Amino acid sequence: MISGNIKVYCRARPEFVHEGPSAVEFPDDVTIRVSSGVSADPTLKKDYEFDKVYGPHVGQGELFLDVQPFVQSALDGNNVSIFAYGQTGSGKTHTMEGSSHDRGLYVRCFEELFDLSNSDTTSISKYDFYVTAFELYNDQVRDLLLSFSNASTVCLGPPDSSVELVREKVQNPIDFSRVLKVALQNHGQDVSRSSTSHMIITLHIHYSNWVTSEVLYSKLFLVDLAGSDCSLDEGASGDSVTEMLHVMKSLSALGDVLSALTAKKDVIPYKNSRLTELLTDSLGGTSKVLMIVNVCPNLSNVSETLSSLNFSARARNVELSLGNRDTIKKWRDVANDSRKELYEKEREIS
Ligand code: ADP
Ligand code: MG
Repeated sequence: MISGNIKVYCRARPEFVHEGPSAVEFPDDVTIRVSSGVSADPTLKKDYEFDKVYGPHVGQGELFLDVQPFVQSALDGNNVSIFAYGQTGSGKTHTMEGSSHDRGLYVRCFEELFDLSNSDTTSISKYDFYVTAFELYNDQVRDLLLSFSNASTVCLGPPDSSVELVREKVQNPIDFSRVLKVALQNHGQDVSRSSTSHMIITLHIHYSNWVTSEVLYSKLFLVDLAGSDCSLDEGASGDSVTEMLHVMKSLSALGDVLSALTAKKDVIPYKNSRLTELLTDSLGGTSKVLMIVNVCPNLSNVSETLSSLNFSARARNVELSLGNRDTIKKWRDVANDSRKELYEKEREIS
């Protein structure tokens, strides 16, 4: 059972030595403590609480234990969206896709759906599963399954602005892996886009019961979001500015929607981005949302880590006080100083 409709988990990836000392600690399994790592000043430490926090040594299997209830909920007929949020290199794709020996959520979620549906041994009902896959780049949808020419199609999004996508029926985990492989290959064709586009795999679940005539349709969205670290460098121009503006706009619109849902606002701003618009029926109402915020643990990433944690805290509707903002500025300064120090040291060594 999932209590509440929006949950936020935080996952730190393993440290990379070249990125400086660690800037995070894990006092317990719901808290991440961020510190400058170089100063004893207690105001340079801050605790963030989430529904669950995973340190660098937590593997894919352990994470999945806490994702499983969302899969069950999708099978029970609710729409579910699971997002991986975070700066480039923080582990979003590792969490969603993983590798052949360390599988991520795409495969684990499908296998769980498949196993759960097979454990229903009564022969009066059946489940059918379909997959759609698309990439959202500069607000443009690119269908990643166009090569399945015999497949049927399905519309996603509200009727006035929906998109028609190829949907491929999958009968078992081998089928699913085959379709996923095609989607990932098409997504990976343009490497430069991987951190500036959102990748959305959707598992469509159809349930029918012949005795009661009950029919349920639900969707499980698995979203590997674009990197949250897009910033407009002084030298940036043309295409890269357009890309970054789209990423920033869509991530902030997603934050606004989650925060409005948590605050139970009357008006939810779905229309403010193509991303939230297409996922409208899986954000709000009886749908369940899981945001997994991925962070890099090292000091050189501390300001991006703070901005990711603040984004997610906002989704849980934890107001940021002015005091916090001052602290963040102080942290940024300390992080910049220590980054400089690290750089100087590296120069000395070489
Ligand atoms: P992102 O998609 O956020 O840009 P990646 O998932 O590509 O980041 O992760 C960056 C690197 O860190 C990859 O080499 C990935 O394998 C590794 N990595 C990320 N998270 C973990 C983790 N939890 N355990 C082991 N390696 C990880
Ligand atoms: Mg990635």
